[in-house]
Amino acid sequence: MKTLKLFLSALVLSCAIFAQQPAQPAQSQHVVIHAGHMLDVKAGRMLDNVTVVIDGDKISSVSSGGGGSQSENQAGARVINLPNATLLPGLIDAHTHLTFDPNFGYQELGVSIPKEALIGAKNARITLEAGFTTVRNVGARGYTDIALRDAINEGMIPGPRIMASGPALSITGGHCDQNLLPYEWHAKSDGAADGVEGVQHKVREIIKYGADVIKVCATGGVLSKGDDPRASQYTLEEMKAIVADAHRLGRKVAAHAHGAQGIAWATEAGVDSIEHGSYIDDAGIALMKKNGTYLVPTLYLADWMRENAARIGLPAMYATKMKEVTAVSRQNIKKAFNAGVRIAFGTDAAVYPHGLNAHEFAVYVQIGMTPIQAIQTATVNAADLLGWSKIGSIENGNFADIIAVNGDPLKDVTLLQDPVMVMKGGTVYKQK
Ligand SMILES: [Zn+2]
Repeated sequence: MKTLKLFLSALVLSCAIFAQQPAQPAQSQHVVIHAGHMLDVKAGRMLDNVTVVIDGDKISSVSSGGGGSQSENQAGARVINLPNATLLPGLIDAHTHLTFDPNFGYQELGVSIPKEALIGAKNARITLEAGFTTVRNVGARGYTDIALRDAINEGMIPGPRIMASGPALSITGGHCDQNLLPYEWHAKSDGAADGVEGVQHKVREIIKYGADVIKVCATGGVLSKGDDPRASQYTLEEMKAIVADAHRLGRKVAAHAHGAQGIAWATEAGVDSIEHGSYIDDAGIALMKKNGTYLVPTLYLADWMRENAARIGLPAMYATKMKEVTAVSRQNIKKAFNAGVRIAFGTDAAVYPHGLNAHEFAVYVQIGMTPIQAIQTATVNAADLLGWSKIGSIENGNFADIIAVNGDPLKDVTLLQDPVMVMKGGTVYKQK
């Protein structure tokens, strides 16, 4: 009893200490932004002479044509003037690995779980300052992404809003299992699980430890030893079991899938998004359209790897697969987009340095999207995929996640690579 009392008073004390911490750094109660232009991403049109008023972490009014509101004269308001800039909603990357850096093959075995969490803290700031105010993080070791999400939400470190998956489910020996060490090390990844009962248990365990979304590796991959990106890994029955449990428990499912059969099975099982989709065929395209499944292409990494694979010493066992997959992926994704498959923006940042995420936009334009369509993948579409209704557009009641670029991003999407202002939840994290 005495021990319990001591414990309780210690708990009360620690809660009191936490209560004194500010939820956000330098939170401004009332902010008014005057900008030359604002992109209405839903309607796809540019507005001029815009005034956006922010109260706390939300947007309270948006007006254009110089008819600004009276509230800009309110006492204590912080005024931000960006006469040459275009405002856009904070960008959303639906496929990141914030806790990983480009360490490949046997290099990665030297990274501890605590180190991985610290790498995540570094990359969270870099990603936010690059204009990405929300990410869906699909795969991390040791629940480091869950800890990272919570630390950001508690105001301990700067970073984007994170929808986090924890470890990715994988068959034993699959793309998301640890296959680098020989048998006597008995190494396996946190998300390895087989059979219907095995995957049911694993989904429940991952949700128990805090996952917002379930990531499953449906086919082989590129940056893993001994597997084939074209080969399906989980069976249709296993994937149906994963999706049924995840959906029943209120979580969406993201499926890593390169091969055509894995894409089709994951889609048939009811996953919410196909990641990569490199070998998608006509049957997969038809199924994804029918089910409204999002495709999250991760295309810029091919360009980056072409220029940097030799310099960074990408192991040969990965380099060969990288060449094969990227030789066909762009054409196939283009076909899927032209056929009307819904696209949400994703990068796989970690395969290349974090902060280069916005380079993905130019590739989307190269495969045939208009600039507004490319921007919609990272705003309205990605918000819809995540199921988060208060992000992805600048309008009353939404979180004040706003970025600014100098110039017109509808003429040049590469402007998004260099935001001059980044605000998340009413707090400015970057201003040039
Ligand atoms: Zn990935």
